[in-house]
Amino acid sequence: MKKIIALNLKMNLDYEGAQNYIKKIKDKISDKHEIIVLPSFIYLDMFKNSGYTLGAQNAHYLDKGAFTGEISPLQIKNLGVEYVLVGHSERRIHFKEDDKLINSKVKGCLKNNLKVILCIGETDEERRLRKTASVLQKQIVSNLNGVDEDALQDIVIAYEPVWAIGTGKTPSTEEIEDALIYISKTIKKHFRIEPRILYGGSVNKDNIKSIMRIKNIGGVLIGSSSIEPDYMLSMLDLVD
Ligand code: PEP
Repeated sequence: MKKIIALNLKMNLDYEGAQNYIKKIKDKISDKHEIIVLPSFIYLDMFKNSGYTLGAQNAHYLDKGAFTGEISPLQIKNLGVEYVLVGHSERRIHFKEDDKLINSKVKGCLKNNLKVILCIGETDEERRLRKTASVLQKQIVSNLNGVDEDALQDIVIAYEPVWAIGTGKTPSTEEIEDALIYISKTIKKHFRIEPRILYGGSVNKDNIKSIMRIKNIGGVLIGSSSIEPDYMLSMLDLVD
């Protein structure tokens, strides 16, 4: 199975910047990896021209209703999007998304045949208090509550330590490997399925090669380093 490289563009790029990004990446599609680009909602249609797999950064959990400003998983599916990012720490922190809501979003996406990239990870304080394992366990159990075993094929887990996102700090490769083993063990206890697990948090040109070589890693989720297309492409060139 190909490794995933997911590019979370967050709330970046103006209209011209999005067009420029697509122009730059269009002819540089690698078939070595599955590259998923997650632009702002307003550019999703435009990014269909990029040739990359499309992902949305968020979704409501219901198909329709009186929820001004929200986008439903049904609408996202209609647009030809394949993946949705759910449970990103920026949504958990800034928009107060809790585990129950995240669980509803996971189910709403799966119901609409969207694949989910579910982000989990510990904060700096939880890490210092050595609570990483219990935090991951709690997020896995609550975020996947009531999800069918078969549907787990459509879920990719992204291990994203909150303290590593946008900070330039990363765990050691051994720490990432340990977290992957723990996540895999926890999921297998509940679902008897080997999950695909990505790492996310300050991936850049200096560390992508060693991170992508970690045993059993399913790929990476990249934020800041994906926003400038030339930098992003030169980073991808480094990956085996
Ligand atoms: C992210 O937003 O998912 C992320 C990993 O960000 P960054 O690469 O900037 O740490």
